[in-house]
Amino acid sequence: MSQTESHLRSAFDDAFRQMGGDRARIRRELGAIEVKFYPYAGLHHTIRVRAGRVFVRISDLFRAAPPEVTRALAFLLVARLLSRKPPRVYERLYRSYAFSPEVLRASDLARRERGRKVISTAVGRVYDLNRVFLRVNRRHFDGEIDKPILTWSQRKTRRILGHHDAAHDTITISKTLDSSDVPEWFVEYIMFHEMLHIKYPARIINGRRYYHTPAFRAEEKTYPRYEQAQEWLDRVIRTRRELRARAA
Ligand SMILES: [Zn+2]
Repeated sequence: MSQTESHLRSAFDDAFRQMGGDRARIRRELGAIEVKFYPYAGLHHTIRVRAGRVFVRISDLFRAAPPEVTRALAFLLVARLLSRKPPRVYERLYRSYAFSPEVLRASDLARRERGRKVISTAVGRVYDLNRVFLRVNRRHFDGEIDKPILTWSQRKTRRILGHHDAAHDTITISKTLDSSDVPEWFVEYIMFHEMLHIKYPARIINGRRYYHTPAFRAEEKTYPRYEQAQEWLDRVIRTRRELRARAA
């Protein structure tokens, strides 16, 4: 059991102790609580009791969550199991993390990718991500970034053009960009951004997780075509909006 999973288990012990109330019978029967991370499609957690044992599955998108957030989640799940109202403070803590932009992005992507094969291929129709990575690494990082797993996304996601998953050491690039309509330098820029996430791991400040730290942003702006890349980002996102308007 990882340190996180044993921390989680003690959080569940506490939650049952504090919220068990007249449901003491359940508490007594809790000889074993099994807590595991699970690669659900999207942000999803489950708790159930079978033969006196409690089985908890936590979305693996929460693997990197700060301890106070996983503790809050334990209280919310136990409250759900016991049909009790969870303390407000835990709801707030949970939401502030679960609805943070990076977790939302990751859960969007997981929803799209999972249930299928997560890793498809690095070699696209037009661009080979292995070559893109090598070029960007040589040009902007002195070749010092260790190569993660590289893959094109299964679907043409427009809102999420790239994603770095630290837990799985994977960079996923949206298949939308594997097109001769998209200039090579823009694919390189998206790769550059995701590689910066490897160079600048998320930092926790006052209990909040920051992915785009000031150092990250400062280096991102040194990209030679940074301004042009922002225009391209707008263009790709605008196209998505137009598509949606047409569908509506
Ligand atoms: Zn980012």
